Amino acid sequence: MKFDTDRLNNIISNITAKDSFSRSYIIEEGEDEIRTDFIEKLVSGIECESEYPEKRPCGKCGSCRQIAAGTSMDVYHMNMSGKNSYKTEDAVAMLDRLRMGSYGRYVIGIIDDADSLSEIIQNKLLKTLEEPEAGAIIILGSSNKDRLLKTVRSRCTVIRVSDYTIHQEKEILKKENLHEIVEMITGGEIFFYELREKIAKNINTRQDAEELIGLLEDEYRHRMIYGTSREDMADAINTAESALKDIKSGMDYNKALKRLVLEVQ
Ligand SMILES: [Zn+2]
Repeated sequence: MKFDTDRLNNIISNITAKDSFSRSYIIEEGEDEIRTDFIEKLVSGIECESEYPEKRPCGKCGSCRQIAAGTSMDVYHMNMSGKNSYKTEDAVAMLDRLRMGSYGRYVIGIIDDADSLSEIIQNKLLKTLEEPEAGAIIILGSSNKDRLLKTVRSRCTVIRVSDYTIHQEKEILKKENLHEIVEMITGGEIFFYELREKIAKNINTRQDAEELIGLLEDEYRHRMIYGTSREDMADAINTAESALKDIKSGMDYNKALKRLVLEVQ
């Protein structure tokens, strides 16, 4: 699973639009590619010079372009000089750079694969995580934050990327399924078994049922304006409305939906 760029931008904008950043973040995500993408976007969002906070990262300003090209002077990736491990001097070099301050909005130190930081280095970072230099932000990329010291975790804002992806994925999938059900109901052909199965699988709460009926009404209204049989559509809308009323007044939503489907088909 990979991020859709628009959605990723939205998620980052939600974080960066507030313009009050945490001083240190843990970005938790098991898939390296997704984690790297996310961190790059977050960094762009933090550094972005757009005057509209909700548009950050804009992808167009000097900062955004430098970050995309990997040439930003304000973004420091901690070097991994050991074989698959960080050495103390790697951390020292990063902390020195953070202390020098930023050219643009912030100076950002990134430690990807923070899981492989030794306890000694994590302890060395603690003081900075707690009180970073003014204008400095540290981002730790981790596939599992539990591998980091508790003292480190407690000083960082943790963002679990999967909270966003899975949630959004599910929302989109649900919407698609609801639209398919509407198409089946309004499609003219009757496939009652499939319809019943699809409803049973996708409508699990009263809210789901209400959302479905809302979409169905939208479709009928659309047909009423652009289609041919105005009267049929008006009847169908009335039937949908009364099903909605039944559900709101406490009728079992499965029962109400079943009746609705039988009446409008
Ligand atoms: Zn920008």
